[in-house]
Amino acid sequence: MSSAQPVPAIISGQPKAATLLARSAGSDKIAHAYLFRGPDGVGKRDAAIAFAARLNCDTLENGAACGHCPTCRKLFSGNHPDFIHIEPDGAAIKIGQIRELKKALSFPPLEARHRVALLADVHTMRREAANSLLKTLEEPPADTILILTGDEAGGILPTILSRCQVIPFFALPYGHVAATLAREEEIGEDEAAALAAAAEGSLGRARMLHKSGLLAQRRTIIETLLKYSAAAPKGVEPLLNLAEESGALKETLPELFDLLRLWLRDLVITAIGGPAALIGSRDLQPLSASALQRWSLPDLIERFDLLAEAEKQLSRNCNRALVCEVLFFALL
Ligand SMILES: [Zn+2]
Repeated sequence: MSSAQPVPAIISGQPKAATLLARSAGSDKIAHAYLFRGPDGVGKRDAAIAFAARLNCDTLENGAACGHCPTCRKLFSGNHPDFIHIEPDGAAIKIGQIRELKKALSFPPLEARHRVALLADVHTMRREAANSLLKTLEEPPADTILILTGDEAGGILPTILSRCQVIPFFALPYGHVAATLAREEEIGEDEAAALAAAAEGSLGRARMLHKSGLLAQRRTIIETLLKYSAAAPKGVEPLLNLAEESGALKETLPELFDLLRLWLRDLVITAIGGPAALIGSRDLQPLSASALQRWSLPDLIERFDLLAEAEKQLSRNCNRALVCEVLFFALL
């Protein structure tokens, strides 16, 4: 994921990763390969840049990168020749990208004490590409450190995992995400808090939700749904229009479905008296109360299944507007 946001000079919101990496850099026991592992959008890429800066900064301040020397400036603006950043080309990092990386690494670093190659989202990497990386991972050239990022699900091949020092990353505290977002986007506290909760502690996802306006779309859908009587819906025009509109969302439609699922989950948590801290749909509080009066727990569970069915159809490339229409009427 690339982002236009400025990269902070220190690793923020991830105390465990920050401690482990500071210890690693401070003791000069630097591993030759790290795997930054955790959910999407919680700062793994920024942490890799900050770590590269910590290792190469010309004028460390209290053991941390200064953020303003020429080396830091190049790194934080994405212009350092010895910071190599590889992102999936389409769905995954391909074997051709690994070959190019190996070629680039066969030359010595241009100016860095520690060249860093960042390979993002290695959980998407196929076996062929992964195998081609193994030897480099085990014995990278002198002065080169590989940093891989990946999610916490099971998609990372054991052969990769066993060759890396794993640095765990976690969902960010909602307050941290909200404060960062409020500062970056100049939005109000309430809106920032709602976005942070809906993104479940992923700053990257919160930024996407802000940009896409999906929370507002979700609210309109739910408001509309709750206006109808399930038994005999009348004047269905607005619902049809919403289905049309949602169908036109294209690549963000699955994200909208995710948000609807999050809301259903929150209703279930509330229905069974679960902890309020888990609530990700805080922007929907009054609507959620009327939804809970309308639907019983079994009703809610049934709606999860309806949503899953709609997602399945979406992945089979069925007509999006039609999928939304069927879903919205079924949810009533
Ligand atoms: Zn510096």
